[in-house]
Amino acid sequence: MKLIVLGAPGSGKGTVAEQLHQEFKLFSLSAGELLREEVAKNTTLGKEIKKYMEKGNLVPDTFVTEMVKLEVKTKKEYILDGFPRSVEQAKAIADLKITKVIYLDVPEKIVIERLSGRRICKAGKHTYHLKYLPPKKKGICDKDKTRLIQRKDDYPKAIRERFKVYHHITQPVIHFYQRKKILQRVDASQSPEKVYAAVKKILRMK
Ligand code: AMP
Repeated sequence: MKLIVLGAPGSGKGTVAEQLHQEFKLFSLSAGELLREEVAKNTTLGKEIKKYMEKGNLVPDTFVTEMVKLEVKTKKEYILDGFPRSVEQAKAIADLKITKVIYLDVPEKIVIERLSGRRICKAGKHTYHLKYLPPKKKGICDKDKTRLIQRKDDYPKAIRERFKVYHHITQPVIHFYQRKKILQRVDASQSPEKVYAAVKKILRMK
């Protein structure tokens, strides 16, 4: 199965992808995570990418598309989390023959609360929420004991920009896949458990 998880920032794409990966060992690729890894290397390219990401803008299509295609080249089954985010990207992966697209639908008010309370560990692998998923020890990751930080693109100004980008550039991707009749909507304002159960039902993986 070749699956895309689509949705607004903070809709829970990463959580669903991680749950499917954990339970079914499906290869899961987060475009944002790949880009953050490049930024962490502090290369010339990484520094360039960082400017787009910190402002909440999309990194140019051709670069992200090439990077994602390279990662999945040898894989038969996978989940794409946060890719494609524009119709241009969606068209550029037509040859991958995507099986299904899960659209996580959630009101903007809820996701803004999720994003502004989100904290990640310095290693960048684990996510918490000040109110809904606090760490055992304040400000410290339960798993790798590194300090918790706020992603710069989770600052209010960047969140506003990300939503602007989402409405103008990413939402048309929903209609693109609707027309291809491979998109299924999930109510992502529910608890993570219920969202995951709904996704598995759609994928007949219960
Ligand atoms: P995410 O971790 O999915 O929230 O993505 C964080 C940031 O990475 C986004 O706000 C964009 O700046 C960048 N990004 C992630 N995926 C893409 C994509 N498919 N195309 C362009 N930029 C992306």
